[in-house]
Amino acid sequence: MKVCFFTNLLYTSRSNEFIKIISLKFAKTKATFCNIFWGYFMTIQRTFSIIKPDATRRNLTGAINSKIEASGLRIIAQKRIHMSDREAREFYAIHAERPFYNDLVSFMTSGPVVVQVLEGQNAITAYREVMGSTNPSEAADGTIRKEFAEGIEANSVHGSDSIENAAIEIAYFFTNEEIVG
Ligand code: GDP
Repeated sequence: MKVCFFTNLLYTSRSNEFIKIISLKFAKTKATFCNIFWGYFMTIQRTFSIIKPDATRRNLTGAINSKIEASGLRIIAQKRIHMSDREAREFYAIHAERPFYNDLVSFMTSGPVVVQVLEGQNAITAYREVMGSTNPSEAADGTIRKEFAEGIEANSVHGSDSIENAAIEIAYFFTNEEIVG
């Protein structure tokens, strides 16, 4: 803002052609720098979300969607499904060696879930922040998990943790035609 004010002042308060050219060049350089800076740190991304069975059972889909939308993320695809045992096992295959794997699969297939594609600025990190920590007792105030989760397993929502996983997870549950924007 300060730079912008300074260049505008130069441009409007002097009639000298040289100063006009310099100030315009300076303004253009500043704009280019800002665009690069903004583009580097603020990228439109897509992430994959699941509203888990503990939340659908308690009729919390709307409340969770409100928090998602209030954060600025857009729900660009959404459907309510009942995950099969195979889907849950494949989806959480990375945790196959963990002691809670079988319990997690049972939980994820215990009722309907809502699978979603979210879009927005830095959507992957942004949604992880809206979700809160895996363990709700460690989640920040105002996050979905702090407000709604029942425990470390029944923690109401899933969100992708990387660009690569977001692409894989979205493609696992949605066709391109289903992502309507
Ligand atoms: P997330 O990315 O925050 O969902 O966390 P993780 O990828 O580490 O774990 C995947 C899911 O497994 C979590 O969301 C929980 O539902 C479940 N989970 C993680 N840690 C535990 C645990 O210690 N015990 C149990 N029972 N479930 C867990």
